[in-house]
Amino acid sequence: MPYAPDTSDLTSDQIALKNEAHRFAAEVLRPASVEIDAMTADDAIAPGSPLWTVFKKAYGAGYHLRGMPPELGGAALGPLESHIVGEEFGWGSAGLAIALSVSAMPFLFAARSGNPDLVRDIVTPFAEDRQGRYIGCWPGTEPNHGSDTIWATGEFARPEIHMDCVARKDGDEWVINGQKSAWVSNGTIATHALLWCGVHPERGMSGNAFIIVPLDLPGVSRGRPTNKAGQRDLNQGEIFFEDVRVPSYYMVVPPEVMPVFHPMLFAATNAGLATAFVGVARAAFEEALAYSEQRVQGGVPIARHQLVHRKLFDMFTRVEAARALSRKASLRLQYGVPSIHYSVAAKVYCTQTAFDVATAAAQLHGGMGLVRGVLVEQLVRDARAAIIEDGENEILALTGARELFSQPLAGSPTNGAMAHAAPEKEAAR
Ligand SMILES: Cc1cc2nc3c(=O)[nH]c(=O)nc-3n(C[C@H](O)[C@H](O)[C@H](O)COP(=O)(O)OP(=O)(O)OC[C@H]3O[C@@H](n4cnc5c(N)ncnc54)[C@H](O)[C@@H]3O)c2cc1C
Repeated sequence: MPYAPDTSDLTSDQIALKNEAHRFAAEVLRPASVEIDAMTADDAIAPGSPLWTVFKKAYGAGYHLRGMPPELGGAALGPLESHIVGEEFGWGSAGLAIALSVSAMPFLFAARSGNPDLVRDIVTPFAEDRQGRYIGCWPGTEPNHGSDTIWATGEFARPEIHMDCVARKDGDEWVINGQKSAWVSNGTIATHALLWCGVHPERGMSGNAFIIVPLDLPGVSRGRPTNKAGQRDLNQGEIFFEDVRVPSYYMVVPPEVMPVFHPMLFAATNAGLATAFVGVARAAFEEALAYSEQRVQGGVPIARHQLVHRKLFDMFTRVEAARALSRKASLRLQYGVPSIHYSVAAKVYCTQTAFDVATAAAQLHGGMGLVRGVLVEQLVRDARAAIIEDGENEILALTGARELFSQPLAGSPTNGAMAHAAPEKEAAR
């Protein structure tokens, strides 16, 4: 019996949206992902690669405008609708789902800045793009700073720990120097960066800002695409900046706004990543179910053995729990209530679930689970990368715990104690 996610709590419009996103994931994302997974990192971005077809078809269908305001051509999906599309895209391919989400980031930030010159320079061309020509990235991590960039770690404001890539004001321009890590998603193919860099290094990581940088400017250069084990369909690579100049209005989030803005972004990116990996977990469960019903051992399909039954039920439970938690995190983004602990809980739980379910699914495939080209083998590798992606899960969990225990917990007699425990512990570090 195939697994179909329960849609009894969705409206007919939401079910139609889900079906359409699933069709795109099944017909465009998954076949391209499997093909790119078998290619070298260089071939994956060469002319003729299926990667370019994915961008073209996604932009052609308007999926790049999911988060854009309606007045700029966007669909302005609500959080539940975004969750529905995000799960289906993750089901098709985590790497490509992330490539498409990240691609919109500089343009979304530029749109939200409300600056008419920036809208004219980059938002309108992106909104009108139906070919996948405008591709974004958000370079944050650096060779010497990975977990250091995670919001609200105890080290976040220590002056000696700051980004090495910095922007300096010179008249009406910002001048940028430094390097971003080999992990920047879309790093070697992006046309625009939402660059996360230091402006007040003396304030540590809390002195950072976001600046839009067109990546065809003099002084920008790239490394080679990173050759990695998982999410091979997600291009990644270094970006170097040497005296790169942008107009002052390209600063979309100045350091003064960061304390308010950064937690919101942190919550949104974690919730989004969680959603994609619900899709990965579900894809692995579906593969396990189909294989178990077809593979005969002991005279019957292995699905009829009690132990296998039990394992499949555990996968079902984890997929459903991951969807519920990630949906909760997505919905909280809309309400504007503090969400970091929900978003982080969802990211950590859903990515670990995707890895656990994919690993169990590969085990149920026996030797076939090790064979290149068998989907579960790729899903294990793709999910493994997610445990580090956008924040290593242990570090994220520490951040989530810090947030949770500084929130008032309804009905908890320990509220005050917990709320005060964090700063005291901090002082003791
Ligand atoms: C698939 C993928 C996509 C990514 N996309 C992007 C992107 O688009 N843009 C971008 O900027 N970056 C991106 N990254 C980078 C990602 O955010 C970092 O890899 C991640 O934050 C971890 O940093 P690191 O790899 O430098 O590990 P490190 O920070 O060096 O961590 C190594 C180990 O040390 C531990 N550790 C680190 N600090 C502490 C501490 N203070 N206390 C205790 N233990 C500690 C960690 O838990 C970890 O186990 C991506 C990474 C991946 C894998």
